[in-house]
Order: sequence, then structure tokens, then C-alpha cells
Amino acid sequence: MQQVAENVYLLHGRPKYAINIYLMGDVLVDAGSRMAEQRILSQLEGHTVTAHALTHAHPDHQGSSHAVCERLNIPLLCGNGDANAMESGDWSLVIPDNWSTAPQHRFWTGPPHPVSTRLREGDEVAGFSVIEVPGHAPGHLAYWRESDRLLILGDVLNGMNLMTTIPGLHEPIKMWTPDPDENRRSIRKVASLKPDVICFGHGPPMLDASSRLERFANALPK
Ligand SMILES: [Zn+2]
Ligand SMILES: [Zn+2]
Repeated sequence: MQQVAENVYLLHGRPKYAINIYLMGDVLVDAGSRMAEQRILSQLEGHTVTAHALTHAHPDHQGSSHAVCERLNIPLLCGNGDANAMESGDWSLVIPDNWSTAPQHRFWTGPPHPVSTRLREGDEVAGFSVIEVPGHAPGHLAYWRESDRLLILGDVLNGMNLMTTIPGLHEPIKMWTPDPDENRRSIRKVASLKPDVICFGHGPPMLDASSRLERFANALPK
């Protein structure tokens, strides 16, 4: 695992930074596609993990959630707005209709799993505050630690161009984003936090992020 900050680790993935999974204190954040089970469990060996939390319930983030929660016997924490999808397996609740026919959907999606805690704005997880950032998914969450201004942002923004893998800030792809306008409001919301470090669902961690994020948010169409 790659240490990003105090008590925050990014699990190794292949290709690097394609689909990110974090260990945030003793909480696993996101679980990749359903093919990620072994890479997660092998890297967590020797670490204390007491819970699994999602940024959002898309297939490239919840794919191995059921398997990991079962194998480690840990509870699942999920944003209130995505919890019904995570429990029922009705993914149309969190992704646009056209997504369900995309090939990734078939290969990545994991089984539904009971949600132990439905997280809301202001809740605390492993010393991080829960920030509600809907748009890319209705129950999308970010996790914020003010002491070192670290933001685990999920897919509110991608940290690289998904085609070229060149690092940089990008809005998530529209066909995977049920409400792009709402997501832009969430981008402005997190920009106002002025994070120093941003950890994305896709792309390498961004350091000294505050002014770049502010410029990006200001340039968005109103
Ligand atoms: Zn997503
Ligand atoms: Zn994603």
C-alpha cells in the first residue's frame, strides 16, 4: 500500500490509479470491482479493519463490498441516498438508465449487501467528517479531515483523464452521472473546503490541490 497521509493508505491496483481503494484509519473506503476481492484481502493482511465505507454504490466501487464484509466480518457504511440500491441490487437507483447496458456493469457489479449505517452529512468515520456530495450518485459521500485538509472525494471529480491517464481535474463522464448539474454544485461545495490533498476514485492523489480546485470550480458553467 502507498501511504498518502497519516493513517491513510492507497491500495495498489493494476493499472495503477485506475480504480482506487483506500484504508482510512481502520476503515476500508470503496472495494473496486467484483474482481478486486483478492487484491484487497491480501493487502489488508496484518492491518486492523473494523468497517467498510463507500463513497458511492457504483459497480467499480461496490463490486467486492459484499465479499470483503463477509470475509472480514465487518459492517458496511453507505450514504443514505445509495443505501437502498446497495441493499436491493436495483442499480437503476444510482446510475443512469443507459449505464445498465454498458459491458462494465456486467463484469464489475457485485452482489447487494445489508447496510449497517446510513451515513449523512456531519457523521464521523475514522476521524473524518462525512460530506454529502450528490450528483454523480444520489448518495455520494466525501470524507474530510480538516486537521491536514485531506479530502477523499470518490468520483465527484476524476483525478486523471480516463482515456489518456494524464493527471488533472475532470468532471465524471456524463453517461455514468445521473445528475451532472447537482454534481457541479457538489464540486463547488468541496472547493469551498480548500483541500490540500485530494484522493480520487480514479487518478493519483493531488497535492497542493486547493487553488487548482478553486480555479476548476470557478470555470464551470453556472
Ligand atoms: Zn462512480
Ligand atoms: Zn468510479
